[in-house]
Amino acid sequence: MHQLIDSHCHWDDSRLQALQPHLWQSCISQGVQQLVVPGTQWAFFARQIAICEQNPLWHLALGLHPYFSDQHSSQHVLDLAKAIVDYKPVAVGEIGLDFALDTTREGFSIAEQERWFIAQVKLAKHARLPVIVHSRKANDRLGQLLRQLKFDQGGIVHGFSGSIQQAQKFTQLGFKIGFGGTLTYDRAQAIRRLAMALPLTDIVLETDAPDMPMAEQPKGQPNQPDKLPRVLEVLGVLRPESIAQIAMQTMTNTLEVLRLNTRPSNSSTQL
Ligand SMILES: [Zn+2]
Repeated sequence: MHQLIDSHCHWDDSRLQALQPHLWQSCISQGVQQLVVPGTQWAFFARQIAICEQNPLWHLALGLHPYFSDQHSSQHVLDLAKAIVDYKPVAVGEIGLDFALDTTREGFSIAEQERWFIAQVKLAKHARLPVIVHSRKANDRLGQLLRQLKFDQGGIVHGFSGSIQQAQKFTQLGFKIGFGGTLTYDRAQAIRRLAMALPLTDIVLETDAPDMPMAEQPKGQPNQPDKLPRVLEVLGVLRPESIAQIAMQTMTNTLEVLRLNTRPSNSSTQL
């Protein structure tokens, strides 16, 4: 068994919380020892903060997700700024752009999505925090904005889909590339080629649970963070390094980019 960190898990989602405490026990028994829990919208921040306070190995990230662009407000950005000070999340996220959404719908225009993204990148820059980025059909634009904003804190582009050139533009900006359940599908040839081509130092593992189910999962079942070893297993087949090496390096990558090694730990809290 290898020690792993799920760099992207919506742990506060009711579908996962309904499986507790057994699900966390299962994670531990599968070697999934830490979770990064990204935020999605202001309405869920309190729930998410309360859950992450239960265990120092459940790492809080706070942000306003592009899926909910029509829900966000300027007040939510101000509240996020305050929550960053009060609750010290490990990153601002998940934030980003999703051009696969219908951008003609009210609240989801490119301008509105970019407005929330830019405001939150500025917060992250000010707080010197990395960002967790959601990118669908928006890699080039996101890279452009991060450059324009002179954002130099790095982060993770999660559930990445795109070309090797686009991935490299992010890694040059200090980002890691997140791979998850998509890798387990035989038809995902492009993403598999990318996972083979990138240096191991650029890769982090994620489930995006309860979304992005693994190939072998029965339809309709939520994805779970204890399935993370399956992603490791596929990478082990694709890449020249040993499974142990991949586990260790991707863990190190996640801890480094989110600076989890250097944060003051509160080891008094129970597992
Ligand atoms: Zn997500």
